[in-house]
Amino acid sequence: MTNSKFAATMVEILKVYDAMGFEFLPIPGRDEVFSSKIEPESVTGPIDSGTEVMTLQAIRQELGNCKRCKLHKTRKNMVFGEGSSNARLMFIGEGPGADEDEQGRPFVGRAGKLLTSLINKMGLRREDVYIANIVKCRPPGNRDPEQDEVKACIGFLKSQIASITPEVIVALGTVATKAILSTDKPITRLRGEFRDYKGIKLMPTYHPSYLLRNPSAKTIVWTDALKVLKALGLEAPEPAENVGT
Ligand code: SF4
Repeated sequence: MTNSKFAATMVEILKVYDAMGFEFLPIPGRDEVFSSKIEPESVTGPIDSGTEVMTLQAIRQELGNCKRCKLHKTRKNMVFGEGSSNARLMFIGEGPGADEDEQGRPFVGRAGKLLTSLINKMGLRREDVYIANIVKCRPPGNRDPEQDEVKACIGFLKSQIASITPEVIVALGTVATKAILSTDKPITRLRGEFRDYKGIKLMPTYHPSYLLRNPSAKTIVWTDALKVLKALGLEAPEPAENVGT
């Protein structure tokens, strides 16, 4: 292959990864090649940069038996995400826990039941929304995902967002909010106000596992949920209630 042909081929490959939302080439040990500049607390620019948007099925196929980060070594099941491919509302957590790892489904443990309760109290069903995580494999011992793991995985989540194009995203907890918005601010300073993710309203709020430890914060999360319903033009079915039990 001539040098110019090789260069043209590489440009095409880089374009494909760029379209998928990768900010670097997902090859273990390689330095970042792409570094899209994003503003803290908001990510500007169109959700579809003009290149082909992949279907969720195609994104899952692209993931394959992913070994792009060390989390693959300890996972039982990858947790891709589930819900409606046309969802108007998307919930994003940080990563699967033990129950999710066991079942290969997002938010099915105790915290997941609380999230389901919140969704139901908003007058919706899990099938109406889309639920995913920043990383798709369980961090051992439920630790936070590490930076290299987030970097290896988040491109797939960004592709899922581009495919679904929800009207509103709810980022659950500090890890998810920081990863999506590239900010260092804690959830306590970010929650309750819409941020911008490529033209999509993004509401940071507390993670359901935090609510299990701090039940009094359910009222605060319900306040955030009401703002989400309003942004979607939906009535709050149980205005006097907060997040469930
Ligand atoms: Fe691949 Fe993401 Fe799992 Fe890492 S966490 S192995 S990048 S699917």
